[in-house]
Amino acid sequence: MIITVIKDIKSNDFLTIEHLINDKGLYLKQFDDVHYLVTGDVYKLDEQSILVLPGVVSVSRVTPTYHLVSRSCHPGDTIIKVKGVTIGDGSLNFFCGPCSVENREEIKRIAFGVKEAGATILRGGAYKPRTSPYFFQGLGAEALEYLKEASESSGLPVVSEIVDAKDLDLYEKYVDIIQVGARNMQNYELLKALGNSKKPILLKRGPSATIDELLMSAEYIMKAGNSKVILCERGIRTFEKLERYTLDLSSVVILKKITHLPVIVDPSHAVGNYNFVSQMALAAVAVGADGVMIEVHDHPVDSASDAFQAYKLSKLKTLIEKGKEIKEITSK
Ligand code: PEP
Ligand code: MN
Repeated sequence: MIITVIKDIKSNDFLTIEHLINDKGLYLKQFDDVHYLVTGDVYKLDEQSILVLPGVVSVSRVTPTYHLVSRSCHPGDTIIKVKGVTIGDGSLNFFCGPCSVENREEIKRIAFGVKEAGATILRGGAYKPRTSPYFFQGLGAEALEYLKEASESSGLPVVSEIVDAKDLDLYEKYVDIIQVGARNMQNYELLKALGNSKKPILLKRGPSATIDELLMSAEYIMKAGNSKVILCERGIRTFEKLERYTLDLSSVVILKKITHLPVIVDPSHAVGNYNFVSQMALAAVAVGADGVMIEVHDHPVDSASDAFQAYKLSKLKTLIEKGKEIKEITSK
């Protein structure tokens, strides 16, 4: 961080700046009459707290406000193991299943179907954060029980979205990976609560969040004690109306460079249209994603939520095989 002060700053004003910096365990190094470099754990410093001080002209941050998520802190890749599945070790995982768990028989049937097609993790929503309060809101705790049964019978680990920290005990009991949905990416109290869990957390990028903001949300979870975080690109809001969101695949290559955490991609919620899911899933593999999350249904038109983007179970095997071929070529 570089602080620029006015020429001939009053000594009292300079001392105030210096005290604030030193109180945080940081140091000031003078460049010239007006420029000072702040050294130490600069990510702990809020630049606004300096900018408001008398005599300060500008503050420019040259280092990011995250630390634990960064490769500068942890150069090797974070590898997460869950029920025999490994994420982040260079392998390719497919997180597949319906948008919402709709009933006991169906989730079990789909679990076996996606496993047969090559999926490694079963997904299914229990508490659904729907845009309209009149849309299907999910079966709640009942869905988590069905997911657990489907997991036990199919052998696939399961991921499901949590929307309220008060449900954490239920998630500890029933799911293997806890998902934070795009809408809750900046629900910091929820992130802190999940920092106390030992379960891996799948953190989705908010529709209007920058890559830095996604990383800072992951930092919240890690700072609170849980280092098993998987990041998920799921499309961001742009001016384009012909897609539900715009899948920002550049974020995958950028994230893989900055952070040691595994990065997966959800093309389903991005394009929002079953016709385009496979192309974007394969593109995600080509840019180096550690996994792909795909909403899959055996009768897409009957889906209680997100029917238009539901990928046909009967076509999943071919998609996964193509994904594995692309992975093989691109990882050479
Ligand atoms: C989901 O994965 O079920 C979901 C609602 O996705 P997102 O949070 O990305 O909208
Ligand atoms: Mn959905």
